[in-house]
Amino acid sequence: MTDEISAFIEKDKLDLQGDFCRGCGYCMPCTVDIQINQCARMSQMIRRSPSENFKGEYWQGEMTKIENCVDCGICKTKCPYGLDTPNLLRKNLLDYKKIISGEIEI
Ligand code: SF4
Ligand code: SF4
Repeated sequence: MTDEISAFIEKDKLDLQGDFCRGCGYCMPCTVDIQINQCARMSQMIRRSPSENFKGEYWQGEMTKIENCVDCGICKTKCPYGLDTPNLLRKNLLDYKKIISGEIEI
């Protein structure tokens, strides 16, 4: 095990704990049709798989739907991991917008 691999594993451990959406979809459907199980983990998906697809028009449209969230809270009551789903979505949208604008390089 090299120091580089060890550092990589430690970073993954930090990224994949806490407010991390597992994509299970138990929180759905969303009142305003947000694809929660994808959009709430966009920050991981766009960094861990080929990102071009997630930067395209389709996903930009899906991510923009997060702005329509009415904070009904239904998703939160159904998440088995106790995530604050609406705020997690907004956090992912903020990060996503920075990636699309080039403010964050991935
Ligand atoms: S709180 Fe927002 S994301 Fe959750 S179900 Fe309601 S509208 Fe959808
Ligand atoms: S927010 Fe919770 S219930 Fe919804 S997809 Fe993510 S982990 Fe599953």
